[in-house]
Amino acid sequence: MTWKLEELAGSRFQCECGRVHEIPIKKIRLSENALSQLGEDIPELGMAGTAVIVADETTFETAGRQVEDILRQAGIPSDRVILRPHHDFTPSHWVLPDERSLGEVLVKAPYDQGFLVAVGSGTVNDITRFVARKTGKPFISVGTAASMDGYASTVAALLVGGFKKSMLAAYPTAIYIDPSILATAPREMAAAGFGDLLGKSVALADWRLSHIINGEYYCPAIASIVEQVLSSTLEDVAALSAGDPDALLRLTEGLILSGVAILMFGDSRPAAGAEHELAHFWEVKSLAHGRLFYHGDKVAIGTLLITKMYEQILALQPDALPWEQIYAARLPISHYKETVERDFGEAWEVLYSPTWEQYREKELSRRTGDLVVPNWDRIQAEVPRSLLPVDTMREHLSALNLCQEPEELGIEREWVEASLRSAKEMRPHRYTVMSLAAEMGCLESISKELIG
Ligand SMILES: [Zn+2]
Ligand SMILES: [Zn+2]
Repeated sequence: MTWKLEELAGSRFQCECGRVHEIPIKKIRLSENALSQLGEDIPELGMAGTAVIVADETTFETAGRQVEDILRQAGIPSDRVILRPHHDFTPSHWVLPDERSLGEVLVKAPYDQGFLVAVGSGTVNDITRFVARKTGKPFISVGTAASMDGYASTVAALLVGGFKKSMLAAYPTAIYIDPSILATAPREMAAAGFGDLLGKSVALADWRLSHIINGEYYCPAIASIVEQVLSSTLEDVAALSAGDPDALLRLTEGLILSGVAILMFGDSRPAAGAEHELAHFWEVKSLAHGRLFYHGDKVAIGTLLITKMYEQILALQPDALPWEQIYAARLPISHYKETVERDFGEAWEVLYSPTWEQYREKELSRRTGDLVVPNWDRIQAEVPRSLLPVDTMREHLSALNLCQEPEELGIEREWVEASLRSAKEMRPHRYTVMSLAAEMGCLESISKELIG
């Protein structure tokens, strides 16, 4: 079956996995002139009062002003917040999702009735969705670029005290995307969106791995949405690199579908695995150095590295491994903690959660061999299904002018080393191939081989 966005929006169904899935986003409009429906839709969606439009200087010009006009014509009062860039970061025209930006939106957020309208891509949506959650106001998302899969997200990646942190936020009541607006966004934003979707190949593999080893909940329907997104995205590489508007629209559809899969699952498990952990780690480091990059650019590089890690892990013969020696060689939690603190530096204070130690202690003491050896045939058969050949991925990345090596993006070698060792500590509950490699005692040796 093919999953269609318009049909999924607002739906609720009993799934073969035993759970009821609900997509609380009421409307998703992805079409030419989608924005013109706002005036009619807003009362239907149960929204009233003043609309506070949140945009940055660029997105206000490409879509914000249009939204303002449409609301005015429909008799809906509006106000606006134009977020200012941080000139001490590179590139200097980007807005940061930090306390200053959040404060600017909070000051303008309506007291009683009213709602927010995010006009932009990742950062503008993250800022708006967080304020929406904190103030209990609904919000509408007007997407302006196909750069990431977070439009439907309930999590906001914010800068807290200078460090990137995932914070609980609200999903939009409705999403509006007009392809002619997408076409005005810089080409590299869509390439980044492709990079984000390429990461789903690893995310699915990690999810299946944990399902087999840990019995983690797995939903074939949600997985099939992500699979569909991945395969349709891969079919479109040539058209996308030629700037074909239909391919751009399909990419956007894929990005939103991926977000819907996340909503159905309840967190980002189906769409983010070890490749995202590496990307997040590099983000923490580069932010500390005042450098900003597109999320998807980092995910693409992370996907290449983790795919290579999978190749190495899947070539092992776990029944021949000296498991008792592996268990005995594991670091005690105190030593383990020291390494993690060193790798993260100051950021660890912000990222540390009290449950982290519980997760780590459990893993440091478990007999992984008993879980892996009897399941190895199944792991080899099911886990790599979504993985792609490294050479194929490289061809796609070069067609879209995406970087393939961390250094090209300004990610220092030291950060890559540290990330392969410690990035998995950012989400200790998310089991990935990096967790497995660590438990098998070969994370260090494989990482060394990966970075040469
Ligand atoms: Zn299900
Ligand atoms: Zn992502």
